[in-house]
Amino acid sequence: MKDKFEFIIEDVAALKAAGLFINLRTIDSPPSAWMTVDGQRVLNLCTNNYLGLASDERLVQAAHEAIDRFGVGPTAVRSIAGTLSLHVALERAVAAFKGVEDALYVQSGFCANQAAIAPLVSNEDVIFSDRLNHASIIDGCRLSRAKIIVYEHCDPADLESKVREHLASYRRGMVITDGVFSMDGDIAPLDGICAVAEQYGLITMVDDAHGEGVLGHGGRGIVDHFGLHGQFDIEIGTFSKAFGAIGGVIAGKKVVVDYLRQKARPFLFSNAVTAADTAACLAAVAVLSASTELVDRLWENTRYFKAEMRRLGFDIGASVTPITPVMLGEAQLAQDFSRRLFEAGVFAMAIGFPTVPKGLARIRVMVSAMLSQDDLDYGLDRFASVGRELGVIT
Ligand SMILES: *Cc1c(COP(=O)(O)O)cnc(C)c1O
Repeated sequence: MKDKFEFIIEDVAALKAAGLFINLRTIDSPPSAWMTVDGQRVLNLCTNNYLGLASDERLVQAAHEAIDRFGVGPTAVRSIAGTLSLHVALERAVAAFKGVEDALYVQSGFCANQAAIAPLVSNEDVIFSDRLNHASIIDGCRLSRAKIIVYEHCDPADLESKVREHLASYRRGMVITDGVFSMDGDIAPLDGICAVAEQYGLITMVDDAHGEGVLGHGGRGIVDHFGLHGQFDIEIGTFSKAFGAIGGVIAGKKVVVDYLRQKARPFLFSNAVTAADTAACLAAVAVLSASTELVDRLWENTRYFKAEMRRLGFDIGASVTPITPVMLGEAQLAQDFSRRLFEAGVFAMAIGFPTVPKGLARIRVMVSAMLSQDDLDYGLDRFASVGRELGVIT
């Protein structure tokens, strides 16, 4: 009889042949500017720890104190016996930070997208979704069973023409976009999207996972960046990137957020986030509320790194944020580039299909506030030498 897992063996061989097989690297140090990865000291150019908060003493201390006070396990889902005073405090603090009426804290950004969409639209409704939206948005849309209409990337005119064509056939419509697109680093034209949504009465949702702690005044996010306070119905966020901890957030109008407390399935059917993590998130919001220093440093580093990469001759796409895609094309070249960088002491991962479209493989550099001038120059120097060695730049 044929091996019933033959299909896996064949698929894995195909992934390897195409340079798309993911090799897990193992980290054995705090997530700082320099990390121990697979036993080697390397410069960290690829984590989402934009501000260095993941090992910040203030967050670590808050997590320790929360464990001492509450123990380790959340013990129940939020709606039964899992809502701690810390969860409530965090929801108030993050709502105030982002300038929204209310916020709901869930297990992750991925979960937030699974939680927020299905209660608002179903099979009689339509969702307009940007072509490059994050996988967790796509899955959240599918779970709702609403009709999904994809509009062209960052194109409010195409959104409007799709809305005109389709909206009348459905009960309700919703538009969903990433704020900062996580693989390209470009920013959704929220003002244009908002104008279309207003004209046609669409529910609006933006996923600000890479905007919080990065865009807007002191990292208040993409809605602040565009000055659209009160005009976006739902803002999805995560505490796992710039905030340095873990957990997701659904922020926005009180009527919506309160409804999700009744209906969101990850909130009702999966345990709350631990006290330690919640306390770390609260400390992160406090750090960002008190000072713009880390966010300012992040942007200084970003401007320097991007300008130098362009000067070296790399194609770094259309990014306007710290996310810096170094476009290489074929997945195999991206993997080879990443491996050579690693050997030279730089940790920057290759990204290929299905995370990005075929033929658009890249190394994705994440600039952070943790990097010193020497670190930035070290990284640039290694990029230059590997780039020349592999014929990417001259
Ligand atoms: C990273 C990311 C998520 C997932 O957030 P987690 O907290 O890691 O689950 C969701 N949406 C977008 C746009 C992201 O970039």
